[in-house]
Amino acid sequence: MKIAVLPGDGIGPEIIGQAVKVLNALGESFEMETAPVGGAGYEASGHPLPEATLKLALEADAVLFGAVGDWKYDKLDRPLRPEQAILGLRKNLNLFANLRPAILYPELAGASTLKPEVVSGLDILIVRELTGDIYFGQPRGMRECPDGPFKGSREGFDTMRYSEPEIRRIAHVAFQAAQKRGKRLTSVDKANVLETFQFWKDIVTDVHKEYPDVELDHMYVDNAAMQLVRAPKKFDVIVTGNMFGDILSDAAAMLTGSIGMLPSASLDANNKGLYEPSHGSAPDIAGKGIANPLATILSAAMMLRYSLNKAEQADRVENAVKKVLAQGLRTGDIYEEGTTKVGTEQMGDAVVKALA
Ligand code: NAD
Repeated sequence: MKIAVLPGDGIGPEIIGQAVKVLNALGESFEMETAPVGGAGYEASGHPLPEATLKLALEADAVLFGAVGDWKYDKLDRPLRPEQAILGLRKNLNLFANLRPAILYPELAGASTLKPEVVSGLDILIVRELTGDIYFGQPRGMRECPDGPFKGSREGFDTMRYSEPEIRRIAHVAFQAAQKRGKRLTSVDKANVLETFQFWKDIVTDVHKEYPDVELDHMYVDNAAMQLVRAPKKFDVIVTGNMFGDILSDAAAMLTGSIGMLPSASLDANNKGLYEPSHGSAPDIAGKGIANPLATILSAAMMLRYSLNKAEQADRVENAVKKVLAQGLRTGDIYEEGTTKVGTEQMGDAVVKALA
């Protein structure tokens, strides 16, 4: 199995280095090939997503991605900025499903803004549709308002739409993810107000017939937002559209309070995916050896589970992360009094040791 390793910028190479170390320690024969992306891609060949990097990503079974971006590239034309590499990869690899777990290890419960008893042990997964909805629907624009009480004044407008195949494919991803976890799926919509989401609800209900072992319920997005902060642990997997998912996944991420701990996956129809930490390239701490590599190591675990079909190895890596946290090891971002502060390398080494 071939993994394209794209470290990127800032802390990217440091954190990816630890994830690669962990993958190498599993005793599997992965072929890993590294290529520049983001600012590093621009430096190497004048484009944030060099042709050779894209070719490698297309050929590989999975992509392990660090982070891109640095303030020094802010003056470049938009198409040449490092962040464009992510959009280019999503588009070229048809990555329509974004999986974002929000896990709060009991040892880190103090990092959340919610009461420990509400969030301790939280383990939910948000499946967000990534390439459709009001973010991409046409027509859109700004114009003179053609009708209604404000006729003749200026207005902005967008179009919310979802086609049946788009809903079906994201529903399949979500049901299959639920099968690998607690077998419960909540589909979040706004069917009481929006035709698009009545249609969404109907299609998800139809796809459910193929997954009788998964319990399905439907929730309006406003209620889902409320329940996420009231009783987040009652969710297992949530599936929703691009815009609702954008908002809910950030809210869920912040329940955990620690940006250095959150992995993510973006998948295509065949479970090929791009795996990256939810955080950025953190240029403020790059090169200091203090970045938390756990989000990237946990992203590698997701890669093992979803793209490489190595669920047991994924469990091994996730359990090793739990073990190092239980041992009291912490990078600066999750440090609390009474624990042991370690650097990026030390954290990676500790995870490797805990694999045994
Ligand atoms: P950021 O996530 O890079 O950093 C926010 C804060 O969190 C910083 O204080 C940083 O030091 C800290 N932090 C982030 N990851 C950490 C880790 N693993 N360990 C310890 N601390 C960590 O967000 P930002 O500062 O807004 O953006 C910096 C750059 O990253 C920008 O150029 C932005 O465009 C880019 N960015 C890239 C991605 C991506 O590659 N997917 C995502 C978000 C932002």
